[in-house]
Amino acid sequence: MKFICIGRNYAAHAAELQHSVPSEPVFFFKPESALTRLNRPFFIPDFSNEVHYETEILVKINRLGKCISEKFAHKYYDEIGLGVDFTARDLQRNCISNGEPWEIAKAFDGSAVVGEFVNKNSFSDVQNLNFHLLLNGQNVQSGNTSEMIFPIDKIISYVSHFVTLKMGDIIFTGTPAGVGTVKINDRLQGFIEDNCFFDFLVK
Ligand code: ZN
Repeated sequence: MKFICIGRNYAAHAAELQHSVPSEPVFFFKPESALTRLNRPFFIPDFSNEVHYETEILVKINRLGKCISEKFAHKYYDEIGLGVDFTARDLQRNCISNGEPWEIAKAFDGSAVVGEFVNKNSFSDVQNLNFHLLLNGQNVQSGNTSEMIFPIDKIISYVSHFVTLKMGDIIFTGTPAGVGTVKINDRLQGFIEDNCFFDFLVK
């Protein structure tokens, strides 16, 4: 399986990183080895001094798909979840300024925290979900999926025109404003509406 991550999908987050708002979705990958399983600790890598959390709504692909039209994209996922796209922001800044790929900043081991999933039908509208992150009990990041620049169906359609989607692939749909650094012994708890989807420690 692969992780497909959407960059700059919330205008306020693009602004906080002083990035422009894209006219088409921007995506990148994390490999399967990036997975941190549900509620296991996240280990800060020794090569970064500035690891940021990015809380993101996750979409789990349920079948093989290629060149999917936006109209049929909803048939390619049943489950919605919440996760963290950990990012070595110091390395990412260097990659961007040197015009280099982002992998060392985004695809490192453990960088994809995957929380619980629930059936999308448990929500009345997947494009109107509130979600937030508690860092040591304080609300530090919150968003609503209605603020996505590119909604889930557009992401699935767009990505599938370049890359075949497979059952079990997970899409990180982008992060709202409020990203920040983590340190050892931080506790991160993620919520969609009032339900906790992950609860783990940083080590
Ligand atoms: Zn992200």
